Amino acid sequence: MAPPRRLGVVASCIVAGAIFSAAASQVRNPLPESLTSDLLGPEDEAALSEAAEPVGPFEWVAITIGRNDTLDALFRGMQLRLTDLAALRTLPDVRRSLDMIRPGDVIQLTHLDGEIKSLTRRINETTTLSVTRTEGGFNSNIVENPLEIEERKLAGTVTTSLYLAVNEAGGTDRLAVSLADVFKYDIDFVNSVQPGDSFVVAYQQQWQDGEFVRDGEILAAEFVNSGRSYRAVRYVGPNGRADYYTPDGRPVRKAFLRYPVDYARISSGYSLARRHPILNRVRAHRGIDFAAPAGTPIKAAGAGRVVSREWNGGYGNAVVLAHAGGVTTLYGHMSRFAGGLSVGDRVAQGQVIGYVGATGLATAPHVHYEYRVNGVHQNPARVTVPKADPIPASLMADFKAQTAPLLARLDAAPADQSIRVALN
Ligand SMILES: [Zn+2]
Repeated sequence: MAPPRRLGVVASCIVAGAIFSAAASQVRNPLPESLTSDLLGPEDEAALSEAAEPVGPFEWVAITIGRNDTLDALFRGMQLRLTDLAALRTLPDVRRSLDMIRPGDVIQLTHLDGEIKSLTRRINETTTLSVTRTEGGFNSNIVENPLEIEERKLAGTVTTSLYLAVNEAGGTDRLAVSLADVFKYDIDFVNSVQPGDSFVVAYQQQWQDGEFVRDGEILAAEFVNSGRSYRAVRYVGPNGRADYYTPDGRPVRKAFLRYPVDYARISSGYSLARRHPILNRVRAHRGIDFAAPAGTPIKAAGAGRVVSREWNGGYGNAVVLAHAGGVTTLYGHMSRFAGGLSVGDRVAQGQVIGYVGATGLATAPHVHYEYRVNGVHQNPARVTVPKADPIPASLMADFKAQTAPLLARLDAAPADQSIRVALN
């Protein structure tokens, strides 16, 4: 007989509100009998009280699916009844959600000498499959546990960085990233944010069973950069698509990103006379170099089409994109290209087209970024990008109705901080 496999079995139980958990290498992991009456959650108990079988003492196990695991092998390894597994698979809903297992998934079950008494499996964040044994066989239920949304407002002043300012105000790193993302077309958060800059942000948080899950959407925000105020508000159009607009209805999004990489430092600007670090002679630098760690994703600055994607002399691995209005952009020195892209393919703004490297004539990892109009180099930091169309007159009433209360939250006193609403 083969030696027992080490299964990823974790047993845990909730006793008087406290959560105990113990990792075990054993295939079977019986819990002390004194705990078994407290093993099951309220729903399990309710479900089991309907069952004909006497309650407990059952063994409770949580199986964490490993690579190459199959349910059959797991059941066999734990000496659970394969006839039960076969019976479970005949139930509607169950077969699909049981057999579509991925590494890391957890299946919890109770059994008595290998006979399955109940089984639960989280299908997704808000849905759990729950199966219990009844007199007539297995009974399955899909249990919904929706997220709740709480609206919050935070305000702060930058002393060193936006991250710290958001953290000090009680926000997460993710909120800081989202906030920078909203204003990235207008504000350079790496190179031009200064002490004294300030922000106010009204946003959503997702909660479940009284636990914070994650930050949700930013609803409205203001950032004051060097005394100049920028405001953005989220609007969901009739097509269901959400985007950020200025309070008067202009899209915050522009046709081109400021940078093709997030949070990069400018290591060399656009210049018509620069001493080249490798060639050691004065040469125009008709692009901007953004230093970033090797492997950092490089994003298409605007929507367009791939014109070339190849080794390009001193540029190393380079991608050239063509955009509307005769604009082309070039991204050089890539360590590698993004997979699945070929010449002629369309790319969306922000789509990853390659990764930062130091191929070609480069001393350190960076992306060399060029912007040309009808073949003529322009300074990407100076080009005036055509403004996107504002909200059409026909939608303006809807826009105002939807955004006015969100913008009002920015000006409201900090006291009315949280409103909890159910998420549909
Ligand atoms: Zn360069």
